[in-house]
Order: sequence, then structure tokens, then C-alpha cells
Amino acid sequence: MDLLEHQGKGLFAGASLPVLPSRLAFSPAEAQVAAGELGLPVVVKAQVKTGGRGKAGGIRLCATEDEVAAAAADILGMSIRGHGVSCVLVEQAVEIARELYLAISSSRAQRGPLLIFAAEGGVDIEEVARRNPAALVRTPVDPLLGLCDYQVRDVVAAGALGPEHAGPDDTSAKQALAGVVRALWRVYHDSDATLCEINPLVVTTSGEVVCLDSKVTIDDNALYRHADLKADAEAGAEDREARARKAGLAFVALDGDIGVLGNGAGLVMSTIDQIAAAGGRAADFCDIGGGARADVVATALDVILSTGSVSALLVSIFGGITRCDEVACGLVQVLSQTRVDVPVVVRLDGSAAAEGRAVLAEARLPGLTVAADAAEAVRLAVAGAAARAGRGAPSQAGPGAPREG
Ligand code: GDP
Ligand code: MN
Repeated sequence: MDLLEHQGKGLFAGASLPVLPSRLAFSPAEAQVAAGELGLPVVVKAQVKTGGRGKAGGIRLCATEDEVAAAAADILGMSIRGHGVSCVLVEQAVEIARELYLAISSSRAQRGPLLIFAAEGGVDIEEVARRNPAALVRTPVDPLLGLCDYQVRDVVAAGALGPEHAGPDDTSAKQALAGVVRALWRVYHDSDATLCEINPLVVTTSGEVVCLDSKVTIDDNALYRHADLKADAEAGAEDREARARKAGLAFVALDGDIGVLGNGAGLVMSTIDQIAAAGGRAADFCDIGGGARADVVATALDVILSTGSVSALLVSIFGGITRCDEVACGLVQVLSQTRVDVPVVVRLDGSAAAEGRAVLAEARLPGLTVAADAAEAVRLAVAGAAARAGRGAPSQAGPGAPREG
């Protein structure tokens, strides 16, 4: 489960990590009041569970209360990579001298926690890794021993590599950096996180070390130990991943425009790969699981289509425990009630496929096509999305998998 920036910063504050005073606001007026309480200048930040907010215009530095209201008005209601913005964080602004990067993540390659530090922060860490791999310090942490002091010292030393990636070099900044590294380990450990990232971790012009951003992911399997976090995250009811989770769906938003719904993670992943191979891009990973009922399908479609950035929908069902006719009923239920103005392509195979096809044939839903097989379904969806988005049909194979993991 991903946390919003302000929720992650709440955990940070609880572990005495240095974060700036801030307030959450749901309207321009609230943002203005918050700025008055905090003192100008402030930064107005979109609260969405995706990175790159800065580039998308979701982060604005404001010097006056009017600017704050205008920035909040612009940002609220924005859609950043398919994530609607329903609240902004108004935070005291600082003057940045240096931007650093610090993260602890659960690494498959290390089979354990991996601490990553870079003396260059603020930008995509993948970009730093490509351009200047030497700037990255990667330290595996033994989960039984925990983070050791020598590892903390390595990071602090790397923070002061020399002028080109000169880090915090005065003693108090070094001590502060060491404290941040230790505290971040505590947050990662105590909240059962799979990712705790601070990008950027900054050194201000007055030499203070501050966490300007937070990105925290909690292990779903440990959520029963963090009822407060779970309730908190689900309170933001507009959040698509939370809605999907409540309905028992596995859902991950992706950057493309072809909505994907299938039963079983393997089927959904291979469908996403097939879409990429055919030159398209999946908008999501949505697994309705086994034995899904009509109402679950209805929720899944609703979640997938709610961003408005989907140009085609591909439903691929290989019935086993899941009966194709149940899924077909769910599709009919949603598509006959809500106007869906994108092409819908359905592939039904396996348990009760013939019955499912009969249900769809009888419903005569406009814009819905039943494909002969999985490959045809992918072709039709990619072509449908391209036509709708005003692109020509893709002629070449696209890049590989849309996302690491
Ligand atoms: P992201 O783009 O979603 O990762 O959002 P961040 O919270 O990392 O903010 C993006 C960038 O905005 C940062 O790298 C900073 O350069 C800038 N920024 C954020 N807060 C402040 C601030 O208080 N003062 C200044 N000068 N810049 C800030
Ligand atoms: Mn950031």
C-alpha cells in the first residue's frame, strides 16, 4: 500500500526525522488559511500516489497568499498520470543548497533491505544511475543485525565526495545526515515498509538537513499490524487503489491507455506484455482473482475507467473457478448503466465461456466486441485505442514490459 506524501511525512515526524511544518488543504481557501498560519513563502504540493509531480506542475512555490490560492485552484482537480488530485499539502518553503537522495527498499536482488544514497537528488534516481553510477552508494542491510553504524558512516562519507558531488561537510550537517539515515531505518523496520524514499533530502542554505519529499510503501501482508495507517489511507475514498483493495482486487495503475482486466496475475501480466509487443501501452494491472462475481467486475471496471484516460478496454478471462458467464453479467451490468465511450474487447475462454458469450450477444452492447481468442483481443484493443487516440495503428513492436517488478 502506497502512502501519500503527507502520510509518509507523518511517519517520518513520529521517528523524529526532520520535516517542515505543513497543513493539508482541500480547497484554495483552506490552502490560503494554512499559508497564513505557516508563514510565507510556502510550497503547494499535489497529494497523489505517483512521482514526477514537480514536472507535471503539481508543485508550486508561492510568495503571497493570492499565489497560494491560485496554485491550489490550479492543482486541485488536476490529473497527474491518471491520479486525480483531491488535496494539497501546504508546506513551509526552504532555500535549497543541495539535493540528496536516500532510500531503503526491499530488494529482490539482495533478498533483503537495500539502503541507497546518492549525493545527487531531486531528479529521477534511475537517471543518476545511468549518468553517474559512481554517485550511488548501495548498502545491503542485514535484516537480523539491522543498520550498523559503519554503514551509516559510509553514507555520510559518500555525502562529501568532493566538490563535484560535495555533500554536507560541516559537522552538524554530517551528524544530521547520520541521524536521518538511522531514523529512516527505524521507520522502514517499524512500519513494515517495502520502500521508504526521501527525494530530495536537502541541505538548506542555513545548513539544516530536511526531508522535502516522502514516498513510503507498506507491505500489504503486514497491514493487519497497522490498522491506523490502513484506515487513514482508505479515508481518501477517491483513491483508486484503496477502492480496489476494499473490493478484493489487485490493482496497479500504469501509464498507458489500454485498460486491462483479467483473472489471475499471470494472465494479466502476460496480457500486458502482449499489449506492449503489439505496440500498445496498458493503463493498469487489474486482477479480479478467482471466482469473481458480477459486482466485483463492476467495481473493477469502475476503477479502471474512472480516470478518463483510457482509450480502450481489454477484458481477458480464462475461466476456471471464475465462470465466464458471471464476468459477462458484470460487464453487462456496468456497460448498460454507464455510458462507456471507448471500445471494449472481450476474450472469454474456459469455464462457461459459451454461456458468457451468449450473455454478451444477447445484451447487444454498443462498442463491445467479443474476440475469437486472446491474440485477436489484444490486436483489436491496441488498434481501437490507437484509432480513438487519433494515432495510426502501430506498425512496429513497442518496448518491453511497462514497469519493473
Ligand atoms: P516530486 O516531483 O513528486 O518528486 O515532488 P518533490 O516533493 O520531490 O518536489 C519536487 C521539487 O520541488 C524538489 O526536488 C525541489 O526542487 C522543489 N521543492 C519542493 N519543496 C521546495 C521548497 O520548500 N523550496 C524550494 N526552493 N523548492 C522546493
Ligand atoms: Mn520527489
